[in-house]
Amino acid sequence: MRAEIVVLPGDGIGPEVTAAAVSVLESVGRRYGHTFAFTHRLIGGAAIDAEGAPLSDATLDACRKADAILLGAVGGPKWSDGKIRPEQGLLKLRKALGLYANLRPVKTHPVALTASPIKSHLLTGVDMIVVRELTGGVYFGEKTRTDTTASDLCEYSVAEIERVVRRACQLARGRRKYVVSVDKANVLETSRLWRQVASRVAAEEFPDVRLEHQLVDSMAMHLIARPREYDVIVTENMFGDILTDEASMLAGSMGLLPSASLGEGTSGLYEPIHGSAPDIAGRGIANPCGTILSAAMLLRHSLGLEQEARCVEKAVAQAIDDGCLTADLAPQGAALDTLAMAKAVLQRLE
Ligand code: ATP
Ligand code: MG
Repeated sequence: MRAEIVVLPGDGIGPEVTAAAVSVLESVGRRYGHTFAFTHRLIGGAAIDAEGAPLSDATLDACRKADAILLGAVGGPKWSDGKIRPEQGLLKLRKALGLYANLRPVKTHPVALTASPIKSHLLTGVDMIVVRELTGGVYFGEKTRTDTTASDLCEYSVAEIERVVRRACQLARGRRKYVVSVDKANVLETSRLWRQVASRVAAEEFPDVRLEHQLVDSMAMHLIARPREYDVIVTENMFGDILTDEASMLAGSMGLLPSASLGEGTSGLYEPIHGSAPDIAGRGIANPCGTILSAAMLLRHSLGLEQEARCVEKAVAQAIDDGCLTADLAPQGAALDTLAMAKAVLQRLE
């Protein structure tokens, strides 16, 4: 097949980790006879510096036309005090493309377990995916502020809940057919609607999928106490924001975890969950695995290339199992740099 992929390296370690992921995609393309055409564009601070805005119309247009978008990270101290913020570019892109479902798989690799602050016997075999609603909730509700009060409105429509729950149930079908919907239905009206809609969608459209509800506070506890039990977790925007950062600690390093943001069509935005890591930027030591695994998600969700996606995931797991580790995971002195890690993955692609 032929696919157009827009690459947005962004800021900090973004260019380093996206270069590694592009080399993996190119290799997979060659191996399986696909032509991937890459177009590089600026986003975030890099775009503010060069184009005066964190996401130009031309870049947005290119993203709209592409089959998929691979992103590094945006932001950094250089722009944190400015009037225009790099993060606005990413928010604008998500909004313009209608990307409402943020998928974050968390899988533990045996070698990485020692890097997690959580006891390793709890972590063996963790394999879950959190689906976070990305366009609604309190982050986007009306905001008011007076001298003595402030408020953020939390709003959800039936349609917004339906589509993200549906996406979670579809994912579960290809996995262990188990979805936990997280809310705070004992105190929030939006959560009561969420729970009602989730139950209906699951019962009417996915009778083969087991749906359970859990309050977000108890979910935060269970995520650490018994992470192995979870398959798919679906939740609203802010709960998802918090729970996905918590879940990332299970894997041992932020540098390992990928994400996908999906909308109605097949296109999507793929990026590692970590930020631009200004403290290590430019040194060539960042862990590229989160971005390489995001490229695997791109193959799966936007291009429909499941076998190719698994091939990349297997190569990453194999490299880590073989002890190929970047500084965030390796004991002192034994670390690979970004290029060497990418090479270790490339060598293991079947
Ligand atoms: P943002 O606000 O952009 O989300 P953040 O404050 O969450 O950023 P990150 O940039 O994600 O922070 O970095 C957090 C810590 O994790 C930093 O010390 C960084 O060096 C480390 N880190 C993040 N990504 C990687 C990676 N790919 N490889 C190695 N270390 C990483
Ligand atoms: Mg962060």
